[in-house]
Amino acid sequence: MTFSTGPHAQGLAALEQRLAYEMACLQQPAARWTPARVQEGHPVADVAVIGAGMAGLALAAALHHRGLAVALYDEAPAGLEGPWATTARMETLRSPKQLAGPALGLPSLTFRAWFESQFGAAAWESLDKIPRLQWMDYLRWYRQVLNLQVHNEHRVTDVHPRADGLVELHIEHRGQPLRAFARRLVLATGRAGLGTGSVPPWAHELPRSRWAHSADELDHEILRGLRVGVVGAGASAMDSAAEALEHGAARVHLLVRRPDLPRVNKGKGAGSPGFVHGYVRLADPHKWRIRHYIHTQQVPPPHLSTLRVSRHPNAFFHLGCAVQGAREQGGALQVRTSAGPIELDFLIFGTGFAIDWAARPMLRHIAPHVRPWAERWTPPEGEEDAELSASPDLGPDFEFQVREGHVCPGLERIHCFCYPAALSMGVITGDIPAISEGALQLATGLAGLLYAEDHEHHFARMQAYAEPELLGNEWVASPWPPHPAEESSR
Ligand SMILES: Cc1cc2nc3c(=O)[nH]c(=O)nc-3n(C[C@H](O)[C@H](O)[C@H](O)COP(=O)(O)OP(=O)(O)OC[C@H]3O[C@@H](n4cnc5c(N)ncnc54)[C@H](O)[C@@H]3O)c2cc1C
Repeated sequence: MTFSTGPHAQGLAALEQRLAYEMACLQQPAARWTPARVQEGHPVADVAVIGAGMAGLALAAALHHRGLAVALYDEAPAGLEGPWATTARMETLRSPKQLAGPALGLPSLTFRAWFESQFGAAAWESLDKIPRLQWMDYLRWYRQVLNLQVHNEHRVTDVHPRADGLVELHIEHRGQPLRAFARRLVLATGRAGLGTGSVPPWAHELPRSRWAHSADELDHEILRGLRVGVVGAGASAMDSAAEALEHGAARVHLLVRRPDLPRVNKGKGAGSPGFVHGYVRLADPHKWRIRHYIHTQQVPPPHLSTLRVSRHPNAFFHLGCAVQGAREQGGALQVRTSAGPIELDFLIFGTGFAIDWAARPMLRHIAPHVRPWAERWTPPEGEEDAELSASPDLGPDFEFQVREGHVCPGLERIHCFCYPAALSMGVITGDIPAISEGALQLATGLAGLLYAEDHEHHFARMQAYAEPELLGNEWVASPWPPHPAEESSR
């Protein structure tokens, strides 16, 4: 719909007032209703959340709106959470600008409202895609306007589920060790939330100065004048290639195993409210079939990212060119590919992310006990998928479940709200399109779990509740039998 005059183009302050009004109409946030607890001198959070990226912020807001005490930790400095202003290289988001993202059903909390309030409806109409850094600005505003308290520069180093109903966290803050306690813990740790960037094993044999993963922080200036190989053809590979070219790389070779670039984004085609809410109800073979199909079809690099590369005459697309290994020799990298050898100076792996518990030392106490899908479901021949097999098999509230024959009291108090949850829960665990649905669903589940656990407390509270609604002087009790004169007149 086009608006000739922006309904909200009255500045951010007016938008913030309107948001406050909308929240007041919805009676958000609710007052805290859970019992306050203290453990070893530390206040116990109802829910601790690791990661204050988009998912962690949306979840913390939804929990806060439900009257829960939340402790939100991120190792990044304030305003630099997630990939947007650090490791991401794309000029704009891939997602369409209209998506409501983490707005939690509040119109005034959408990117659109935030944008229009500052730049007007005409600017919104002419905006094509959301610039990457502007998205980060929006998330910074989101945090501030909802008054979400983030403990930045707090790196969680250890997670200990306990048998006494608490999860204990060990945290490192500017060199100081800290401890914290919560009744439930959520991992909102992002795209590589249970692992790290995926690279072939032989990469680790190469000097680290010769390669990077697309999600590494890399000063692209070091690529000036170099022959750079980029492995992969997804969005991050394409953006890495573009950055290398724009920073003066002598040549950039995209080394793509497939004979063609994927053209169609099947995941986008599947998107509908039905998919968002219905996926979790599907039987195992149907979940597996969908996720495996999306994996094998792969997501095309965005149109504009691809043009951003191909407009450089020193960019080369090598299709059907699987990289098989490399060694450093003669001051260069000798790279073997299925199409033949090539000499390069630097390799960038745009090869996605893998579940790799060893790369997440804070999870070392739970990793051996978490049940993976491999223990739940054996795919039919031809549908094998190592990444899906390694995905955690989550319960209905995103909670980890214990492996057959293992004992890990309290593991079920740890909830997985990051990308590897997608096989169990669907697309509500990370990306912009359905992040609100995920946050609302998980927050509602957590509120319910906390209530049920404390039912004795809540029952006692109900019994002790003594605020009268009638004072006793609103009526007078009549004598029985009723007045005889009244009876005889009937
Ligand atoms: C380059 C790139 C581009 C993307 N573009 C799009 C797009 O256009 N549209 C879309 O829908 N999706 C996109 N995505 C996918 C997804 O939306 C993003 O990955 C998004 O950042 C996910 O949000 P998140 O909160 O789950 O994770 P993140 O934003 O990654 O946040 C995770 C946070 O956890 C913190 N953390 C991790 N470990 C610890 C620890 N031990 N202690 C404390 N803090 C910790 C990190 O510091 C980080 O801030 C993109 C992803 C990438 C990588």
